[in-house]
Amino acid sequence: EDAHVSQPELKVEDVYIAVKTTGRFHKTRLALLLETWISRTKAHTFIFTDTEDVDLTSEGYNMVVTDCQSDHSQQALSCKMSAEYDGFMASNKRWFCHVDDDNYVNPEALLSLLSAFPQEGDIYVGKPSLDKPITAHELLEGNATREVQFWFATGGAGFCLSRRLAEKMAPWASGSQFMRTSAKIRLPDDCTVGFIVEKRLGISMVHCPLFHSHLENLLLISQRSIPQQVVAGGFIHRCPSKCTSSYSHVFSNLQVTLSYGIFENKMNSIEVKGSFSKEDDPSRFKTVHCILYPLTSWCP
Ligand code: UDP
Ligand code: MN
Repeated sequence: EDAHVSQPELKVEDVYIAVKTTGRFHKTRLALLLETWISRTKAHTFIFTDTEDVDLTSEGYNMVVTDCQSDHSQQALSCKMSAEYDGFMASNKRWFCHVDDDNYVNPEALLSLLSAFPQEGDIYVGKPSLDKPITAHELLEGNATREVQFWFATGGAGFCLSRRLAEKMAPWASGSQFMRTSAKIRLPDDCTVGFIVEKRLGISMVHCPLFHSHLENLLLISQRSIPQQVVAGGFIHRCPSKCTSSYSHVFSNLQVTLSYGIFENKMNSIEVKGSFSKEDDPSRFKTVHCILYPLTSWCP
């Protein structure tokens, strides 16, 4: 009604953070996240898995045990993304963010990024996994196919959707529709989100360089871009070289997500100096966490 009456300032608790995991990674991957960043976002972080874990449930984590298969197939992963979307839609949160169980999330950086967007806008923000749009062959009626091209945000780097956009996605994303849409293009969950936003709704993804997956060389991330201290007005106005959006002015200089993983038999992780050795902290997540939150009990 009145365009001048703006919503209350966005708080980090307004962000629904969905983490995708699987039973065999509860101890090997998820535990590290619970110790680090999820300790700061527990109440609004939802862990989507395929295996009951009474220890975690009794510790008060929001565990969502899906009926999805526990494998790396397109179907199993789309099934979990579908559950994440439905979980968000049933919540009263203002933003949906998805991450994998090998991502570190800097909640302050996430909040400062999301706060800079128009809160009533149709926003899909993340890092493109390729340097050009993906080409898919959409199945049409009676065995025909149609070539479609669109950008999508790599699920392994994390991405976010505003509530207004998520609501518009419902005809292709809610309930069994997400799996159906994924099957139509025969591509995984993260591609399916891009397809719905860009091809079904005609809304462009916002390309943001502050999300990171282990598909990129993480050694290239500078330590200076990690600390939490958000300098007032400290936004970079320079558009990153591959930036295609008109929102580049909203990006602060702080990384929103990090990742780690094995690449060509070697650990791909960010290079940060700090309290833990590479042996004690191969992902570097504990080291980063102690830089951001030095008062944490287990930080030296
Ligand atoms: N994952 C899953 N079921 C599986 C294997 C993986 O739900 O059988 C999840 C995993 O927990 C992670 C994401 O899928 O959040 C990506 O898995 P991973 O990092 O092992 O592979 P990537 O696709 O990054 O190479
Ligand atoms: Mn991964």
